Amino acid sequence: MQFKFRCPTKIFFGSGCINEHSNQLSSLGKKALIVTGGSSAKRNGSLKDVQNALTKEGISYRLFDRVEQNPSLATVYQGAQLAKDWGAQFVIGIGGGSPMDAAKAIAILAVNDLSEEDLMARKWTNRPLPVVAVPTTAGTGSEVTPYAVLTVPWAKTKRSIGGDDLFPALALMDARYTINLPWEVTVNTAIDALAHSIEGFINTTASIYSDLLALESIAIIGSVLQNIDAENITLNEREKLLYASMLAGVVIAQTGTNFIHSLGYPLTYYKGLPHGLANGVLLQASLEFMAEGSPQRVEQIVKAFGCNDIAALGSLLNKLMQKVDIKLSDEEQKLYAQQTLQSKNIVKCPRRPNEADILQILKRSNLV
Ligand code: NAP
Ligand code: FE
Repeated sequence: MQFKFRCPTKIFFGSGCINEHSNQLSSLGKKALIVTGGSSAKRNGSLKDVQNALTKEGISYRLFDRVEQNPSLATVYQGAQLAKDWGAQFVIGIGGGSPMDAAKAIAILAVNDLSEEDLMARKWTNRPLPVVAVPTTAGTGSEVTPYAVLTVPWAKTKRSIGGDDLFPALALMDARYTINLPWEVTVNTAIDALAHSIEGFINTTASIYSDLLALESIAIIGSVLQNIDAENITLNEREKLLYASMLAGVVIAQTGTNFIHSLGYPLTYYKGLPHGLANGVLLQASLEFMAEGSPQRVEQIVKAFGCNDIAALGSLLNKLMQKVDIKLSDEEQKLYAQQTLQSKNIVKCPRRPNEADILQILKRSNLV
C-alpha cells in the first residue's frame, strides 16, 4: 500500500463556530482583508459574525466586496491592491467558491509583484498571506483545497492555480449561512461536490484513504438529493451537504479533478453555465465513458449514491437540475474539445478521452 495525504487546514465545523473559535484568528495578525461577493455574505449573517469575531479579538479590517461569480484576474488584482494599501496580514474569504478562490489569489498578490502570466504560471516566491475560508455554499470545498480557479480572458477559459501554500490556514464552517441558498445554487453546488468525489475516485491519483472520503461524500450527497425538493430542505440536510462538500474538497486536494471539470470550464466561460451545472450536464455521459475503463469503480460510485445504474443516477440529477438548452456548433465542440485535451488534469483519468470521445460525450449530454 502506498499513498500520500495532506490536509493542513484547521477545520472548525458547527453552528456558532466563528464566535466560539474567534481566538483562532488572533494568531494570524492584527489586520485582515475580508473578501466577499456582492451581497449574499451581508444577508446570510456570515459577514456580521466574522466582523464581530474580529472586533472581539482586537483585529481591524477592510472589506473588499466586489468578487463576481467565476472571479476574473482583474478583480483579484484590485483586491490585492487594497490588501497592499491596507497592509493586510491575512485574508478572509467568505462566500461560495468565487470569493474563497479570489481570497487565495489576493493572498498571493498581496506579497508578490507578478504579471498575470506569472501568476497563472505559479511563479510566486514569497509565501502567500494566510487565508481563512468561510464557505456559504456547499459545493466547491475550496475551504480545504490548495486551488484557486480564475477566469483568464487571454486564455479564453477558466484556469486553476495550485500549491501547498494555498491551503487555507483555517476553515470556519457553519451551515446556518446556507439556509437561504437559492434552490438552483443548492443543487448546482451539491452536484459540483458530487463531481469532485466521482472524479477523485476514478483518477489514477486516488488512494485507499481518499476513496474512503469520496465514497462517504457520494453516499451523503446521494441520500440528501433523493430526499429534498425546492420546498423541503432542512438545516440538518444542509449541514450534511456542507460536510460532504468538505470531504469532496479533501478528496480533490489529493487527487485533482479530471476531464469533467476541464470540459465544464468552456461551458461556463462561453455559455455562462454555473460551475456545478456545467459539471452536472456532463456527468451521466462522462460516467458512461469512464465505466468502459473502470467498470467496478463506476459501479461503486453508483451504488454508494444509492442507485442501481448510471441511468437512474442521471435521471435523478436531471430532475433536480435546471433545464439546459444549449446546442453547440461544430466549431464550438471542436474548440471545447481542444481546450479540454490541453488541460493538465486530463492525464489523471485512467481512460483518457480523445477528441472523438469528447465530441461523443457532448452529444450524449444533449449539447449538440
Ligand atoms: P459562487 O460563484 O461563489 O456563488 C454563486 C452565487 O451564490 C452568487 O450569486 C452568490 O452571491 C450566491 N451565494 C453564495 N452564498 C450564498 C448564500 N449563503 N445565500 C444566498 N446566496 C449565496 O458559487 P460556487 O459554486 O460556490 O463557486 C463556484 C466557483 O468556485 C467557480 O469559479 C469554480 O470554478 C470554483 N471552484 C473552486 C474549487 C477549488 O478547489 N478552489 C473547486 C470547485 C469549484 P454573492 O455573489 O452575492 O456572494
Ligand atoms: Fe468544482
